[in-house]
Amino acid sequence: MNVLLAGGAGYIGTHTCVELIEAGHTVVIADNYSNSCPEAVKRVEEITGATIPLYEADVCDREAVEKIFSENKIDAVIHFAGLKAVGESVAKPLLYYRNNIDSTLTLLETMEKFGVNNFIFSSSATVYGTPKEVPLVETMPTGTPTNPYGWTKLMMEQILSDTAHARPEMSIVILRYFNPIGAHKSGRIGEDPNGIPNNLMPFITQVAAGRLPKLGVFGDDYPTHDGTGVRDYIHVVDLAKGHVKAIDYAGEHKGVEIVNLGTGTGYSVLDIVKAFEKVNHITIPYEIKPRRAGDIAECFANAEKAARVLGWKAEKNLEDMCYDSWNWQSHNVNGYK
Ligand code: NAD
Ligand code: UDP
Repeated sequence: MNVLLAGGAGYIGTHTCVELIEAGHTVVIADNYSNSCPEAVKRVEEITGATIPLYEADVCDREAVEKIFSENKIDAVIHFAGLKAVGESVAKPLLYYRNNIDSTLTLLETMEKFGVNNFIFSSSATVYGTPKEVPLVETMPTGTPTNPYGWTKLMMEQILSDTAHARPEMSIVILRYFNPIGAHKSGRIGEDPNGIPNNLMPFITQVAAGRLPKLGVFGDDYPTHDGTGVRDYIHVVDLAKGHVKAIDYAGEHKGVEIVNLGTGTGYSVLDIVKAFEKVNHITIPYEIKPRRAGDIAECFANAEKAARVLGWKAEKNLEDMCYDSWNWQSHNVNGYK
């Protein structure tokens, strides 16, 4: 298929681009570089040997999106183009609602106009809210998000379900990501957050690189095996392969499917720190800090539906994730800059 990757220059988009091309698909990327840069796409071209049509475009801009659809025969869209910083979404809710929801509506309307029926959406485990029990299963009721970012994901899931219902010719796969970390084994592409990272692994790699003095561990009094928060970390290359499976699935089915992309295993903050230190032979200084507002104790997936419906299962382990994260950061101390 020829797949439009909206937000394809970002962290998950670039890795998905590599896996799609390696699986024999072709891609077109649209990105406004609000959280990325064209260099990332150049590096995907370097890894794959492919030439990628690249549009600097805001996918909320209808004219720009229609231009892409008229210049390329698009078979499917993967929508990564979202703003994702939880704290910023609390400070700037309208920016988040406008960008995340408008981009989804514009892409869906343009797809309808051009008769394109396959849509894969980047959702998040955040839609489960504060889980009553783990592992999380797709049939569990969604929760109450604690921030506007989470609300945009929940609202977009609703928009997509309603759209699939109204347009039975469509195939929509909603992928609920757990915690993607790691990088492509080449060390040429990886996560490159702006400013001080909010997420655990980029914070650790920046401490390891000497860009930050020490890690703050947010809380050690959770009801978990060592008191620190537990999450389902998934290697970004495994996650990317899940998108290839979702594209294949969409080509053969109609309707809407919601699928968790996680490993099914939870690790604590200190498990991650210890694994990172062991694999990379680096000490990560850390101190225990108070809990971070809005954090939950434990969040990990039941990954059975992905295996059953998509034929996908995560293959990489925690050591691979820690090794590849550091391989990327150590070869790109300042990211793509
Ligand atoms: P990212 O910021 O690296 O990638 C998103 C890309 O979209 C960036 O390149 C950005 O410039 C682009 N973009 C944003 N708004 C745009 C717009 N209006 N028009 C065109 N381009 C636009 O983030 P990522 O980690 O690759 O995440 C991709 C998607 O997955 C996001 O929707 C995010 O919410 C979702 N997600 C990410 C995580 C995670 O931990 N990384 C977890 C769950 C869900
Ligand atoms: N965390 C931490 N220090 C940091 C960043 C994160 O202790 O600097 C913890 C956080 O409290 C959570 C886990 O690491 O338990 C994963 O946090 P992240 O922000 O990466 O993902 P999310 O909260 O979205 O699951």
